[in-house]
Amino acid sequence: MRVVIIGAGVVGTSVAFRLAERGTRTILVEEDRPGAGTTGTSFAWLNARDKSPRAWHDLNVAGMQAHAALRAELGAAPWWHGGGAMAWPVAAADVGRLRRWGYGVEEISREATLAREPGLAGAALGDGPFAYFPDEAWLDAVVYAGAMLLRAETLGAEFRRGSVEDLLVEDGRAAGIRLADGGTIRADTVVNCAGARANSVVRDSSLHLPLARRRGLLVVTPPVATGLSRVLHTPGVNVRPDGSGRLMLQADAMDAALDETSTQASVAAPAALLMDEARRLLPAVGNAAAETARIGVRPTTADGLPALGPVPGLPGYQVVVTHSAVTLGAHLGRLMAATVTDGELPAALAPFAAARFFKE
Ligand SMILES: Cc1cc2nc3c(=O)[nH]c(=O)nc-3n(C[C@H](O)[C@H](O)[C@H](O)COP(=O)(O)OP(=O)(O)OC[C@H]3O[C@@H](n4cnc5c(N)ncnc54)[C@H](O)[C@@H]3O)c2cc1C
Repeated sequence: MRVVIIGAGVVGTSVAFRLAERGTRTILVEEDRPGAGTTGTSFAWLNARDKSPRAWHDLNVAGMQAHAALRAELGAAPWWHGGGAMAWPVAAADVGRLRRWGYGVEEISREATLAREPGLAGAALGDGPFAYFPDEAWLDAVVYAGAMLLRAETLGAEFRRGSVEDLLVEDGRAAGIRLADGGTIRADTVVNCAGARANSVVRDSSLHLPLARRRGLLVVTPPVATGLSRVLHTPGVNVRPDGSGRLMLQADAMDAALDETSTQASVAAPAALLMDEARRLLPAVGNAAAETARIGVRPTTADGLPALGPVPGLPGYQVVVTHSAVTLGAHLGRLMAATVTDGELPAALAPFAAARFFKE
C-alpha cells in the first residue's frame, strides 16, 4: 500500500511515523518547512480542561496520555514539558465536572499557588479560587514534529517538498495528488493533514470541510528571569515558558479582533497589552518589550470537533483536521495510521468521523 500525506505539521508527521512503522510505503508532502503551519504558531498546551462533550474530553485525555506514553516508548521526549498547570479563578462547577470525569484537578490555596511559582507577584493574584492540574503540560510542537518526521524517515517514509494543487482522481477514487510544478505523486490513499488549509488542496468543493479558520495571537517575550516553570491561566493573560527564559503569552479576549488582514504590525497594541499583563503578574519581565508576535490560524470545523477518516464520495481519500491537534497528535497518529490501512475509523473515533459533514 502506498500512502501520500499532505502537510508536515504535528498531525501529518505523527501519522507518517505510525504508518511507516506499519510498513506502509509513506510519502509526506509539504510546501514549506515541517512545522511551518499552525504547529509553529500554537500555545501548545496539552489539556482536556474545557473540552465538552464527554467524548471530546476523553479524546484529549487520551492525547495527553499518548504523549506521556511516547516518552516511555522512545526513552526520551525533550519536546514534552510537564509540571502541570495552574489557573484562577476556576469555577467550582468546572472542578466538579472534571473530578466526576476522573481528570486531575486540585483546589489549592493562594499560598500554595505562590509556593509553586515564587516569581509571581502576590498582589496580582486576586482571591482565586486557584486550581492545579497535575497532568497538564506543554509541547515544543515544532521540535515534536521534527522528531516524528525523522522517525518516519528512519522507518522508510519519504519527505518531499512540493505544493499540492489538487487530488488526482481516477475511476471515481483518489489516485494521488497533483503538484503546482505539474508533477503528480500516485498513491492508493491520500491523507489530507493540511490543517487550516485543508480545503485549498482539493479543487472539488463538494469534498470541502466546513472550516472556520479562527485566528489567534501569540506574543513571545525575550529571555526574562521569571523562573516560571508551567502553564498559567489568569484573568488577564495565559502564559507559559517557551524555552531559554522566554515566555509565550496569549489571551482569548485579544483574538476576537483578528481577521485575515491582521499583521504583526497591526497587532502591536494588543501585544503590548499582553506584555503589560505579564509584567504585572511576573515582575521579572521588567521593561521588556515583545520579542515577536505571531498570528496562528486554528483549524476549527463547524461544530468544533475533529474531522477524521474517509470522506464519502471519494474512496481512497481521508482527512485528519482538528483543533487541539498538539494535544491529540501522538494519539491520532497511531489511530489514524490504523484507519488508513484498515479503511475504517475505529469505534473510539466514530463521533469525530469526517463523514458527518457530507451527505452520502
Ligand atoms: C493561537 C493558537 C493557539 C493554540 N493553542 C493550542 C493549545 O494550547 N493546545 C492544542 O492542543 N492546540 C492548540 N492550537 C491548535 C493546534 O495548534 C492545531 O490544531 C495544530 O497545530 C494543527 O496541526 P496540523 O498538523 O493539523 O496543521 P499545520 O501545523 O497547519 O500543518 C499543515 C501543514 O500543511 C502544509 N500545507 C498546507 N497547504 C499545503 C499545500 N497546498 N501543499 C503542501 N503542503 C501544504 C502547511 O505548510 C503545514 O505545514 C492552537 C492554535 C492556535 C492558532
